[in-house]
Amino acid sequence: MSQRNYSTVLCIAGIDPSGGAGLLADVKVCQKLHTYAMGIVTAITAQNTFEVNASEAINPSMLRDQLETVLCDIIPDAVKIGMLPNADSVKITAETISKYNLHNVVVDPVLISSTGTPLVDDLKDGIEARKKYLFPLATLVTPNIPEAEILGLNNGNKEYAVLLKGGHSEHKNECSDILMIPGQENMVFTSKKLECKNTHGTGCVLSSSISALLARGLSLAQAVNASKDLITRYINRGKDISFGKGNGPVWLL
Ligand code: PLP
Repeated sequence: MSQRNYSTVLCIAGIDPSGGAGLLADVKVCQKLHTYAMGIVTAITAQNTFEVNASEAINPSMLRDQLETVLCDIIPDAVKIGMLPNADSVKITAETISKYNLHNVVVDPVLISSTGTPLVDDLKDGIEARKKYLFPLATLVTPNIPEAEILGLNNGNKEYAVLLKGGHSEHKNECSDILMIPGQENMVFTSKKLECKNTHGTGCVLSSSISALLARGLSLAQAVNASKDLITRYINRGKDISFGKGNGPVWLL
């Protein structure tokens, strides 16, 4: 039998059927970065480039079954967590991460879509559950500025690393992301700000890219630095593409 292995990423996320965000985007990124993606569905949304019309959580026992069935067979090299639609799904995911002692866990604290629709049933419960059960198990949490404000992560956290994404900052010319690792100096990654509407799913793409690079053995700082370059390139390449009536995806091809 061959000794070769895949570098594997377990993506735990919701389905955006238009393919720009969520699990479909995560899988495309992992594939592009030469890792083998597995996917756990947490919710199904009905959404396109301009609106989220409906959202339905996968029932808790089915979520647990998916996780258990994959993990009793394959332990991933990294985990990417996106949309968790309610406190139950947060707790089940956290319990499973602990049970299987999973490493390289990147959490994108998806709360509200860029079109303004909540992606968590009860925001207060969803936030509390994330802070209490999930974030302490994370290698990295990747809030944007509004999420960091709601979650109290603007200045990082003592237990886990935080990547504060600067895309929503007032700064006109540049976009700086700050990596705060407990016990280390903050690291700042800056790119030119790109004027463009095709940014649907950028948070998903960035966090899955970081997961894929961690799975391949890069350090956290290396994975964040390389992923920042990649997302900037993907946004730049997709900025003039006409796709859908709203905010199109970044260009991953
Ligand atoms: N839909 C799903 C299923 C997602 O997982 C996410 C983000 O993680 C989004 C929508 C949000 O994407 P955007 O911020 O581009 O609206």
